[in-house]
Amino acid sequence: MKICCPNCNWSPEDKKLWTCFCGHEFDPFLNISKCPVCHYTHELTECLNAECGKITPHLNWYSGLGKKVDRLIYEVRTVKR
Ligand SMILES: [Zn+2]
Ligand SMILES: [Zn+2]
Repeated sequence: MKICCPNCNWSPEDKKLWTCFCGHEFDPFLNISKCPVCHYTHELTECLNAECGKITPHLNWYSGLGKKVDRLIYEVRTVKR
């Protein structure tokens, strides 16, 4: 499964570049953008490409949404709060 920005197609190489509200740096593509520390699920993901910077729905970053992702989303949603 390819992960890239839906706007500019930028693909993160080092994915631990996003910072949660709680200050934890994490890879949002590991667990559908759920912070492993505070368990907040970030539904939007900001593109870190300096030329883009668009904030788009996290799920749009996965090209080729398959059944596996649908299942993960279900799991994340049911665990949330
Ligand atoms: Zn982008
Ligand atoms: Zn957090």
